[in-house]
Amino acid sequence: TKGKQVCIVGSGNWGSVIAKIVGHNVQKLDKFDNRVTMYVYEEIINGKKLTEIINEQHENVKYLPGHKLPPNVEAIADVVEAAKDADILVFVLPHQFIKGICSTLLGKIKPTAIALSLIKGFDRLEGGGIELISHIINRHLKIPCHVLMGANLANEVANEQFCETTIGCRDRKIGSMLRDIIQTEYFRVVVVDDEDTVEICGALKNIVACGAGFVDGLGLGDNTKAAVIRLGLMEMIKFVDVFYPGGKLSTFFESCGVADLITTCFGGRNRKCSEAFVKTGKSIKQLEDELLNGQKLQGPITAEEVNFMLKSKGMEEKFPIFTTVHKICTGELKPQEFINCIREHPEHM
Ligand code: NAD
Ligand code: 13P
Ligand code: CA
Repeated sequence: TKGKQVCIVGSGNWGSVIAKIVGHNVQKLDKFDNRVTMYVYEEIINGKKLTEIINEQHENVKYLPGHKLPPNVEAIADVVEAAKDADILVFVLPHQFIKGICSTLLGKIKPTAIALSLIKGFDRLEGGGIELISHIINRHLKIPCHVLMGANLANEVANEQFCETTIGCRDRKIGSMLRDIIQTEYFRVVVVDDEDTVEICGALKNIVACGAGFVDGLGLGDNTKAAVIRLGLMEMIKFVDVFYPGGKLSTFFESCGVADLITTCFGGRNRKCSEAFVKTGKSIKQLEDELLNGQKLQGPITAEEVNFMLKSKGMEEKFPIFTTVHKICTGELKPQEFINCIREHPEHM
């Protein structure tokens, strides 16, 4: 046998970095097939298909320019074709596209496959709730889905600058197999069993990062930003406590928690566009289009999803940062009102 086959479902900025890492790792290990498939949402760049460019030049010239992918990573525009023989499906798409992909894949994958989600965000549940992306994958595709989240700005990982990450996996054996396809000398993995908390940290920190960007846009200082980060962390902890009881406080001290929160509040795309939102007065959508060259923001839509739930439960005031970020992104509140809204934070009472 050739070993387990890995498919990367997604090929954006982070997806391409993960394809590079997995592509190298499977070549070193006998238990994995050397061929890695990568689902690419097809687009035309200077008259040529992106899949063809990737397969000929071994570079995702749009989403990760300047970095070579190993040649055993094969770009495929048809997600069913890419995923059908895979034993391990690594989901790494902007979260708004996951449901569409799941319905396309339903019944077309190996029933014994397992999934690893790197996706940061939630989806709305009818009736006023939210659902975790890993739970959507599990429910739609009927396969187990574990998660990987961490302080991992894609371009820095692509440059092989040292960082850590967190895998959430309750199954010890599967957790160590997943670590084997991901870990490198510069990208160190810690496996914890608190899957939901790992994923919730990854989704919620993007909302806080928008708040950090507003603070930067308003010209407030590092102390203000530290306050937003701290209060944001407290809201993240409270969110898990209220809506997903049973999570461990220690998970917030893993890379997926405080470390990802810090890096995203300083170097992330959500921070960058939120700062520009304050300085230019343009809409979030327009700034995403103008500043990110096709990459996607997750913070503003995650804030909307979270607000959908908090509002329906009458709990908006208990999470002032999450609530205010949402209202600023939609124009209900002005960025200048951000600090007023968090001045009397429940953490101060
Ligand atoms: P990205 O932001 O680069 O998004 C662009 C990708 O979305 C492209 O591959 C594009 O082809 C695809 N796309 C656009 N329209 C689509 C459609 N209709 N259907 C399917 N795909 C479509 O993506 P990314 O940076 O790889 O992020 C994926 C996930 O990983 C997100 O949840 C993000 O929060 C998370 N993440 C990103 C980073 C990072 O630094 N970029 C780090 C850690 C985690
Ligand atoms: P942004 O999407 O804000 O760039 O954050 C990237 C990230 O998740 C780093 O871990
Ligand atoms: Ca191999």
